[in-house]
Amino acid sequence: MIELRNIRKSYRTEYTNLEVLKGIDLTIEQGEMVSIIGSSGSGKSTLLNILGILDEYDVGEYRLDGHLIKNISETQAAKYRNSFLGFVFQSFNLLSFKNAAENVALPLYYQKMDRKKRIDLAIDYLDRVGLKDWAYHLPNQMSGGQQQRVAIARALVSQPKVILADEPTGALDSKTSHEVMEIFEQVNREGITVIIVTHENDIAERTKRIIHLKDGLIE
Ligand code: ADP
Ligand code: MG
Repeated sequence: MIELRNIRKSYRTEYTNLEVLKGIDLTIEQGEMVSIIGSSGSGKSTLLNILGILDEYDVGEYRLDGHLIKNISETQAAKYRNSFLGFVFQSFNLLSFKNAAENVALPLYYQKMDRKKRIDLAIDYLDRVGLKDWAYHLPNQMSGGQQQRVAIARALVSQPKVILADEPTGALDSKTSHEVMEIFEQVNREGITVIIVTHENDIAERTKRIIHLKDGLIE
């Protein structure tokens, strides 16, 4: 599903050149559940943003489901993101003035699905993460764990092949973190590839493979 060959990435400013990824080789098969662990500043988000086609790399090759992701247009990148990828972030990134169902339905709005249909589908997905009764609540009426489950439902609603999660439990207490990990496990059992970035060992240990990122390389 995901194939990285000798991926290098630097951040350049006028005076400095910070080499963050120094030749990453990584293959992740369809249906895997993996974590990428490393200390703060080790390049985890940089790597995940490359996988999510949110950022470009300097050297190497990235193939997503066999497609070479290199020097592609923003339109093409958006097309790949919409058809393959779902994103979950540490800070949930829900719209505060939209209820849970509307937040989950948002990707379907961009696909121009009509309102009734997309809200019904959103409620189905909220049901899958155990939040059917919360469909008409606003984010600030929900706990952090519930908000993250809404965000996971939103990531799933466009039926991605891969879920990319950047520190998804970073803002949650340990009990809630493990509840969120249970949802990811359930998602993975349905055949979706799950990639979780974390700096917490007990979160990484809940995945089937742990990838250690250190000094710009995979150990
Ligand atoms: P992690 O997610 O593991 O904490 P990041 O991938 O966010 O690490 O960052 C890796 C390094 O790259 C850090 O030193 C960070 O300061 C630097 N960095 C990240 N994004 C940028 C950017 N857009 N411009 C310059 N430096 C950046
Ligand atoms: Mg990060």
